[in-house]
Order: sequence, then structure tokens, then C-alpha cells
Amino acid sequence: MYGFRQWLDRMRYRFAAFMTGRYGMDQYNRFLGGAAFFLIVIGFFVKVLLLDAAVLALIGYMYFRVFSKNIPKRYEENRKFLSISGRVTGFMGQKKRMLIDMKTHHIYKCPTCKQKIRVPRGKGRIEISCPKCGTKFIKQS
Ligand SMILES: [Zn+2]
Repeated sequence: MYGFRQWLDRMRYRFAAFMTGRYGMDQYNRFLGGAAFFLIVIGFFVKVLLLDAAVLALIGYMYFRVFSKNIPKRYEENRKFLSISGRVTGFMGQKKRMLIDMKTHHIYKCPTCKQKIRVPRGKGRIEISCPKCGTKFIKQS
């Protein structure tokens, strides 16, 4: 295996030299790769028009970014991607927490001022007093 090791070292060196001054991987590229992989998997199950073109475009764009020499621009794209994806996952997390909360709590609206009031479920008939305007009303929790 003497020749193979040397060949591997040489290839590794060449690759490192090739990647010098190039951008490389980041979270945005991993997302693009993941999206391409996801579309490929979808393609096994359903026939979608232009799916192959979309996969090629995603992979092509990913490699364009990996090998790009405009590092500040790629860095800025990644920063934007992280800000958007952070907002999306934050929003999803909030929706998920709301769904879990709906199992244990009920949201009632004050009949006077429309203030939303969060009340635990399963307490029977309860008198709720609005924290905003003080109106009292009876609800089945
Ligand atoms: Zn009120």
C-alpha cells in the first residue's frame, strides 16, 4: 500500500492548495446540500416537474459557493441565511410551544376590552376577572 498512501497525500495536498483562498463550506452550503438531498429523496416517491433541474441548480450553487474566491460576499450571504433561518426556527418553536400550551390552557377573550386571558384547563366553571379592565365573567375551563 506504499504507492496508495503517497498518492493520497499528494491528492490531499493538491486539494488543500486548490482550496486556498476559496470560501469552503458553511451553514448555508450545508442547507443547500440538504435541500438538494431532500429533493432527490422526494423524487423517488413522486414525479415532480423540473425536479432534476432544481437539484442541479442547488448543487451547482452550493459548489459555486464552496469554490468561490469572493469570501466576503459568501460570508455575508451566510450571515443573512443564518438570520433568516434563525427567525424561521424561532417562529416554528413559538408555534409549537403554543400548540403544547393549548392542551393545558385555554385562551379566553374579555367580553369588554377583548384582552386575551390564559386560563388553565379542567378547573370546571370558573370566574375570570380581566387583568386589564376588571370585568368579571364565568367560563367553563
Ligand atoms: Zn377586559
